[in-house]
Amino acid sequence: AKDQGRNRFNYFTASMQEYARYRMRLIQDLRQALERCEFELRFQPIVELGSGKVFKAEALLRWNHSERGSVSPAEFIPVAEDTGLIFEIGNWVFEQAARQSAAWRKAYGREVQISINKSPIQFRDEGNRFAEWLELLASLEVSGSGICIEITEGLLLDAKMGVSDKLLAYRDAGIQVSLDDFGTGYSSLAYLKRFDIDYLKIDQSFTRNLETDESDLTLCEAIIVMAHKLGMKVIAEGVETAGQAEILTRIGCDYAQGYLYSQPLDIEGFEQKYLGKHQV
Ligand code: C2E
Ligand code: CA
Ligand code: CA
Ligand code: CA
Repeated sequence: AKDQGRNRFNYFTASMQEYARYRMRLIQDLRQALERCEFELRFQPIVELGSGKVFKAEALLRWNHSERGSVSPAEFIPVAEDTGLIFEIGNWVFEQAARQSAAWRKAYGREVQISINKSPIQFRDEGNRFAEWLELLASLEVSGSGICIEITEGLLLDAKMGVSDKLLAYRDAGIQVSLDDFGTGYSSLAYLKRFDIDYLKIDQSFTRNLETDESDLTLCEAIIVMAHKLGMKVIAEGVETAGQAEILTRIGCDYAQGYLYSQPLDIEGFEQKYLGKHQV
């Protein structure tokens, strides 16, 4: 048993070293990714359930690494946060989203509201960029409502970080706010009353088994009723089947997003599928 313990320890240190090396490499590469234009935004449509129309899209960040190919945001966002690189990346995301919104309005005469994700760290500490972003929107003639920010529940519990004032600043600029992954975090319903939020995004873990699990159905119904009474719209995430979409429509959900409609698309793909002349 002693030997086993030692072996396990050796194995552990070896993998720690490997991990440290891997991580250092990732940080180095991440530092260069912006200069090398390795980031890309993909756009996933957010479909209005009543009409089937698309007025909104979520921008999802992709890193096309020169050797490794596409790296998942779940892998690099935490590293970007630890190193502070997230602020440059977040700035890039905002700029791209704003420029894309302007470009689509110009080319297709349509305003597509683009949602961008903001991690709590990002949201709390990026204040110095805010004025620049508003100037950018103004110079592009994109109204605040052309952009929506997606934040998570954990952020709202963090009352001392001035979250409330920052959210208000976004709201004053007309920028809308979605509460992402609703129901998965350290949920407290109190913040729904305290903060002015436009959309609740029901996490995929509640929509996945909607067709078979009665308690998930009950939860979704309750979330939708509550959100509507508080003046919010509801977006269901991770909708993959027509059956799920039917149920969501029946119980009054406002929007749905998921592979049933589309994967996140590159700019050209999104234009072809949703903005072409034959589209509404
Ligand atoms: P999220 O904001 O909850 O985004 C939804 C994730 O679900 C995306 O994964 C999307 O591709 C995926 N998805 C969409 N429809 C379906 C479906 O029908 N079924 C399933 N199984 N999955 C679906 P992705 O693009 O890998 O992003 C993962 C997470 O990374 C995001 O979760 C978000 O938290 C974060 N992220 C992405 N882009 C950014 C960004 O620009 N900034 C920050 N801070 N975080 C980002
Ligand atoms: Ca999101
Ligand atoms: Ca989500
Ligand atoms: Ca509201």
